[in-house]
Amino acid sequence: MGSESVKVVVRCRPLNDREKALSSKMVLSMDLQRCQCFIEKPGAVDEPPKQFTFDGTYYIDQATEQMYNEIAYPLVEGVTEGYNGTIFAYGQTGSGKSFTMQGVTEPAAQKGVIPRAFEHIFESIQCAENTKFLVRASYLEIYNEEIRDLLGSNTKQRLELKEHPERGVYVRDLSMHTVHSVGECERIIEQGWRNRAVGYTLMNKDSSRSHSIFTIHLEICNTDAAGQDHLRAGKLNLVDLAGSERQSKTGATGERLREATKINLSLSALGNVISALVDGRSKYIPYRDSKLTRLLQDSLGGNTRTLMIACLSPADNNYEESLSTLRYANRAKSIQNRPRINEDPKDALLREYQEEIKKLRALISGQLGTADLKKLEKCFLFFFYRAALLAGHISEASPVFPSRPLSSTTEYEEKLAKLQAEYNAEQESKAKLQEDIAALRCSYESKLSNLEKARYTRIASTSRAPCYIDGMFLWYGDSSISLYLRLQRLEQEVVGGEQARNKELQQRHRQRKNLADLRKVQLIHALTENSEESENVLLNVYNSIQEEVHAKNQMLVKVQSKLKAAKLEIRDLQAEFEVERNDYLATIRRLEKEGQLLHSLLERMVPLVRRDCNYSNLDRLKKEAVWDEDSATWRLPDVMVQKTTLPSGEAFIGQVEEDRYKEMLDRSDSENIASSYFKPKRASQLLGGDVSKGHAIHSPPLVTMAAHLSVSGSNVNPPISSESVLPRPFRLESLGVPVSNGKVKRKKSKSHIHTEGI
Ligand code: ADP
Ligand code: MG
Repeated sequence: MGSESVKVVVRCRPLNDREKALSSKMVLSMDLQRCQCFIEKPGAVDEPPKQFTFDGTYYIDQATEQMYNEIAYPLVEGVTEGYNGTIFAYGQTGSGKSFTMQGVTEPAAQKGVIPRAFEHIFESIQCAENTKFLVRASYLEIYNEEIRDLLGSNTKQRLELKEHPERGVYVRDLSMHTVHSVGECERIIEQGWRNRAVGYTLMNKDSSRSHSIFTIHLEICNTDAAGQDHLRAGKLNLVDLAGSERQSKTGATGERLREATKINLSLSALGNVISALVDGRSKYIPYRDSKLTRLLQDSLGGNTRTLMIACLSPADNNYEESLSTLRYANRAKSIQNRPRINEDPKDALLREYQEEIKKLRALISGQLGTADLKKLEKCFLFFFYRAALLAGHISEASPVFPSRPLSSTTEYEEKLAKLQAEYNAEQESKAKLQEDIAALRCSYESKLSNLEKARYTRIASTSRAPCYIDGMFLWYGDSSISLYLRLQRLEQEVVGGEQARNKELQQRHRQRKNLADLRKVQLIHALTENSEESENVLLNVYNSIQEEVHAKNQMLVKVQSKLKAAKLEIRDLQAEFEVERNDYLATIRRLEKEGQLLHSLLERMVPLVRRDCNYSNLDRLKKEAVWDEDSATWRLPDVMVQKTTLPSGEAFIGQVEEDRYKEMLDRSDSENIASSYFKPKRASQLLGGDVSKGHAIHSPPLVTMAAHLSVSGSNVNPPISSESVLPRPFRLESLGVPVSNGKVKRKKSKSHIHTEGI
């Protein structure tokens, strides 16, 4: 298994209107051939520009199309072969991350990486021969270290991260959407974009403060010449990160500041993971420090091909942020991944589908014969059409099936158009047609019993009318139809090979592949050129000493300027480190202040909590609280109240208890109790024995009653009783009556109040 490094490209956007209005200077420049990027420090004319080399550099005029074709194309193509791929956009707010990932529709060359990836994947799928694909999509957002499903029924619900020995880290309950076409992908991503939380900062009013991950999951089933199926699975993560700027620059306050802190936490964690991976000495990689790094774990040092697109602003007032982005990107280049084709995925849904399709096909054609299968299809389409007419979903003039997935619409429209023509022609001999259908139905029903044995029928009903259910038309009661419908449905879930004979498309597909390969060769050439230059000077054979001195002098000047640049770099890095340290300290101080406020509030509030509630003891609560790594929350003990009261006579005492007290009262008269209670201690001691011996002293029966507190509609469990001895009422104690421990039984009960999420 070979390893390959994370690919990193940088993209510089043009100056925006605000920067132009401020007469900002451009501090970024690029050598596109050599993939080099230079940044000049504003006001430091004597300092050489800092220089970085990447796997691709894209300046203000380069469109997303070029970038996609050169660098993203091979990665996405790999996903259709069974590799995992991740593309993420990094950079400060307003640097062009969303522009790169989502893009714009006009001009077409600036369409984003995400829609391009859809088109690309579906083009590959349609051109594939003997291969079927199951394509599913999911879209999530990490906002304030909380994960939300952007395509789920409840976008506000927080989802949890889970770890599975084979699947790795995954998001529990994240919705998966089967997609059959580019159009469907576009629709769901638009739905997700609408759900993304966006915030307002001084830098860019549309900037999003959240990280979003759109994932396309592919399952691939290739049938070889021997008819053997081979299953693979690929996954493409398209990540649009939140702004990487330091919080102070955006002028964030209050709630926004809280967001900024957490976003920085995630990005710092990402940076730490990158540093740890690159620094060969670290054994421990802190993936667990944030949700983002846990989710991207496989993309950083794992089984994935990864591309980072670092977005930059060219303006001088963004120098610090741009330099920090360049450094971040430069570090990421050295991460080594180990991508491999994911063969034989264990939990592949496609395997189940394919097997069921095969069985259904064999069953239907075996039971009915191929000719009958065709008739069944015809009959089905006819009734489907009639039912649609009846239900008013279509008119005779508009043969449209409202519930069909897009990919199959054309196919069905064609069939339907044909059928409609036939139907019109046979209108006059309607009676004859009905006879035919009745005969057909008769023949199916004779085979029905065999089919029933196969237990494929999921629909049971006595009705015979065509019905519109669950987005499909079903003809209730006829298992051959339902069998056929199931087959149709399964076949529609799976896509692949629709354009396998489209020569033009195939050629275009190959050309794009070749272009990407060519670019790779160019890139390798440019990079080796960069590194070989200095070696040549030393190894060269010179004609004269002067020539050698000249060449070596030139090299010395170069090396000296490099040394100077390196020294400046050290100075800058130290200054930056200082700024970062101050940032962290400020954050710590702010968090400490916040913590102190909360603590003071608690201290004021705890005395107000009733004493018999476990929440009145802060120290005990702190001890009992448990940190839950998965949900990154504290699990607090349930609220419990222990309440001791005298019996009320009727309310809380059961029949058995009542009987017991009655018995006790019968056994001892009231005088006895009173005298035992108020007997002086001294006197009883002098009498040389425990007075209570012999005649039982019954302290007033104490009954603990369950106190039910209700916390915003939460369930209250039935009280759990446990026996223990409570201290005697203090009035009696002061009188010095010996405590007859073993004899007096008091009941104590607890009420549990569940307060999850407190
Ligand atoms: P981010 O997502 O990083 O916060 P955006 O993608 O929203 O930033 O970009 C900020 C603004 O800059 C948008 O108005 C966008 O249209 C513009 N922009 C970004 N990159 C480019 C580019 N390469 N060419 C032209 N305009 C760009
Ligand atoms: Mg954005």
